[in-house]
Amino acid sequence: MMPFHCPIESNEHLLGWISRVHLLGGNLKFKHTARNLGISDNPLKSCNHNEAFRDGLNLLPNLNDAFENHTVFALWSLSLQTEKVLEWKQCNSKLVPSGSEPNKFAFHSSWKYCPECICEDINQHGHSIWHAKHQLPSISHCYKHLTPLLTDRVNLRDLRTASLPQLYDVLTPEFNNERLMIEWSHFILTIFDRLNTNPALGEVLRERASSYLGISKQFTQKDKPTVVNIQEKMDKEVPLELLKYLFLFYSQEFKRPPSVLWSTLGYSVYEKVKHPVYWLIILFWLKDKISLEI
Ligand SMILES: [Zn+2]
Repeated sequence: MMPFHCPIESNEHLLGWISRVHLLGGNLKFKHTARNLGISDNPLKSCNHNEAFRDGLNLLPNLNDAFENHTVFALWSLSLQTEKVLEWKQCNSKLVPSGSEPNKFAFHSSWKYCPECICEDINQHGHSIWHAKHQLPSISHCYKHLTPLLTDRVNLRDLRTASLPQLYDVLTPEFNNERLMIEWSHFILTIFDRLNTNPALGEVLRERASSYLGISKQFTQKDKPTVVNIQEKMDKEVPLELLKYLFLFYSQEFKRPPSVLWSTLGYSVYEKVKHPVYWLIILFWLKDKISLEI
C-alpha cells in the first residue's frame, strides 16, 4: 500500500522514491521494506542497473514512463544496441549491464542534489526528492539552476542507509573552470533528452563518430598506431581539466597512455558494454564536426 500512499513525484529518481517509501514506512532496516515491496534489497545506487533497479521499475504502472522520467537509463542508448534498449523498456525482464569502471573513473557516482531544488521541492511537495537528472553520470551542475551539485561520497553511495537531500549539508565543490563544467553538464543533458525521445540516436551517433574518425569497427592490432594518433589529437583538443575530471588515467602518468578511443570504438569487437561517459566525451570532442541530431 505504501507506494500508493506515497506516489512518485515528477523528476524524482526511481530509487530515490523507493528510499522515500522506506523512510516513511518506518522500518529500521531497508531489507524489511524491500520484503514488503517484493523487491531485492540490493544497493540503491544512482547508476547501477541491479536487481533493485529492475524490481523497482516494476512497481510503477507504466514501464516506459518509469524508464524515461524516473531513471537516466536513456543515456545507455549510447552503449547498447537499439533493440536491446527497446526490449528493456518494454519488458524489463533481465538485468541491464551498466559498464561502470569505478577504477578508471575520476568522477563519483554517489547521489547528488541541488540546494536550490531542495527549497523549491519543500515548497511544492513538503519534502525534498532525489532528482533523476541530478544523477546523470559525471554531471556537475543542476539542470534547472546551473548551481554545482553537492554530494557526500561516503554517506550518499547507497540510499538504503541515506535520507532525503534536505538532511545533508555538504560543502560546495570548487571548479577551476566552472564555465567548462556547466557546458559539459548542459551537453550531457542535451544528449540525454534526445536519447530519451529517440533511443535509435545512440546507434546513429556511434556510427557517425566512427565514420568521421575513419576508424572501422572491425579494427585489429595493426590499426593501433592510427587509433593512437587520433587519440593524441583528441587529448590535445579536449580540455585536460575535463579529461582529468572524468578519467583517473589522465592524472596517472606512470600508467599506460589513455586509450579512450581504442577501448570504446572497438567495443563491438569485444562485445563489451562501454559506459556512456566514454561515448559522451568522444561526442563532446566532435560536437562541432558531426551532427548530433537524428
Ligand atoms: Zn537545482
